[in-house]
Order: sequence, then C-alpha cells, then structure tokens
Amino acid sequence: MTNRRELLIAGALVGTAPVLAARPAYSGPNVIIVRFGGGVRRRETIDPAHTYAPYLSKSLTLRGTLFSNMEVSEIKDVTTTSHAQGTLYLLTGRYDAYKDIEGQFLSERFEPAAPTLFEYLRKTYDVPTHQCLIVNGEDRKNEEYFTFSNHDLYGVDYRCHTLSLARFKRYLFRQQISEGELPESELAKTRKTLAELERLDYRNAEPLGQGEKLDTFWRNWRAYYGDSGFVNARGDALLTRLAVRALDTLAPKLMMINYQDPDYVHWGNPSHYTRGISIIDRGLESLIDAVQINPTYRGNTIFVIVPDCGRDSNRFQRIPFQHHFNSRSAHEIWALLVGPGIPRGRSFDHRVDQTDVTATIGALMGMATSEVEGRVLI
Ligand SMILES: [Zn+2]
Repeated sequence: MTNRRELLIAGALVGTAPVLAARPAYSGPNVIIVRFGGGVRRRETIDPAHTYAPYLSKSLTLRGTLFSNMEVSEIKDVTTTSHAQGTLYLLTGRYDAYKDIEGQFLSERFEPAAPTLFEYLRKTYDVPTHQCLIVNGEDRKNEEYFTFSNHDLYGVDYRCHTLSLARFKRYLFRQQISEGELPESELAKTRKTLAELERLDYRNAEPLGQGEKLDTFWRNWRAYYGDSGFVNARGDALLTRLAVRALDTLAPKLMMINYQDPDYVHWGNPSHYTRGISIIDRGLESLIDAVQINPTYRGNTIFVIVPDCGRDSNRFQRIPFQHHFNSRSAHEIWALLVGPGIPRGRSFDHRVDQTDVTATIGALMGMATSEVEGRVLI
C-alpha cells in the first residue's frame, strides 16, 4: 500500500507536487462535540437534584444515551485532570503525557503526537478544512494549537481551523493595517499585538492563513459586530454565537466547541462555577435549536457532549472544586450522545473512558482511527 510519504517522494522524483489519493466525499452524519468544559462535576451537571444545567439533565438526556460513569484515567506522576489534557484525550483518543512545545512552565501549548479526529476525517474523506472546526474561548490561547498533530502520516495537510476571538483579531488587525486608516499612534500597537497573536500559533502563521471561506466568515462577523470587540458576546456565550454562525455559513461536518466558563471559579468565587454551567446549558439549547431549523443538519447531526475533566470535592477548602489535586471526583466525568441512530432515554452506569468518546466518533463517522486506545461505546 502506498502511503503519503511514498507519494511525496514519488512527486519529488518526477518534479511534480504530490497527488494525494482521491478520497470519497463524506456522506455520514455531522458530529458536533460539545466540550462541557472548564472542568465540571457530575453533581452540578447531570444530577437532576443538584444541577445548574436543567436543559441538559432534565430534557436532553431523555433524547439520547448517557454514560454517567465515564472517567479520565490516571497517568503516573502526570496531572490528567486539566483542560488542555482532557481536550487532547478527546481529540486523539489516547492518554499521552504532554509538555509544552518550548518547555515553558504552564504554557500548555501541547502538540499531539497522535492524529486528531479532524485528521482522521480529512485523511479518510474529501472534507475541506473550513468544514472541520474547533471553536475556542478567548482565555485559552494555547488551544489554538490543537489543529493538527506531528504524526508522520497526518499533520498539517489534514488540519482543522479554529474560530475564536483571537483568530478574529488576527484577521481584523491584518485588515486594519492593510486598509491604512489607523492613526499613527495605534498602528504600532496594532502591529505589535498582531505579531504576538501570530507567535502564539506560528505553525498556522500566514501565509498559510485560514483561506477564503474563513476570511469571508470574519469579514461578515466584522460587518455585523464592528471593530471594537465590545458589541459581540463574551465568554462562552460568544462561543455559541460563533458556532451557530458557522453552522449557517460554513456547514462543518465535524465541529468541537470548547466551552470553558465554569473554570472562572479559579478566581475565587463559587458562583462563577455554577453560572458558567448555566451559560453552557443555554448554549446547548441554542445549538440544538439551530440544528433543528437548519435543513443541512436536521435529522443528520449527532451531538457528543462531554467534559474535559471533573473537579475536586474537598469540603475543607473554601472553594471545594478545584481540579489540580488529582482527587477522585476530578477524574469523574460523563458523556451524553444525542442524534439519529443513538438510542433515546438510555443511561449506562458501567465505567467507561474519556478516550472511548474518540473511538465512538470514529465509528459513527465511518473512519479508521488506528492510534485510538478507547473502545466504541455504541
Ligand atoms: Zn482550570
């Protein structure tokens, strides 16, 4: 069997660009992964008696299959219960230990060694980059980095794109500089901020860019919300707006929305945690509604809702729910699948793994996920 590296070599030998094998068009279900993120416990999410997410726990669970006893596994001497780690376990289906690409402490710009779900999809099917999207929060710039792995047979050719405020600002600042209408006093500052943003994710630096479709997306976003950054929603409400707009204009086949607001509890106020859960719950309802009214998505879209990690349950702490102490409940998460082909109103309480989510999405989308360690759930 000819692999891509051999094709590249063959292309180099005859002096032509490599021609990748023709891939079939994708005709399976669309998949929307909702990272119910920023770390949440089962108690405040899927437990109907204590939930701050009534739509999730009392309505949506009746329409899908809930795995209430999912866990993030432990790796010896490594913190696995954090946001970037959980996101990469979901994207790669493996519990690999990660360190920052430049070794910066707490920088968490992790480069996955195993292919991500987006790479598996684009390697198997002819799906354009703009239909493979990660929607990221504004305080998680390190997650701009998860668009492709450094795996030999996958990588940048099969990457996805990100939608985020940081990504919009990159578009906006480049436009403003080229339009030449910024006052001199702002020009230097804008150039500096743009350079900082591009440095954050130099693997995706221009001229590689995001391409014409995403430029159009950002042009329309700018026309609607303006240049100030004060009109659009912030926090996780912004992620919902970006995702709904993407459904209408980019028609992604696979999209991951990385909600994060419950993590603002690190600032010290417990209500930040519970309010964050409510905001994601409302976002979920908006997303489900957006799919229902969109003929491209209605009846052909599967939601996979899963936290990045749990949180501690330490009654002796003023804030009982951090997530860095490797406690039992920081490993305890859940997953809810909703959509065509997924049994309605079912709930399983046997122990399953966060990495099983990846294997399951691979099976639902009909693609081989050779490096995934998890098992198919449904
Ligand atoms: Zn956190």
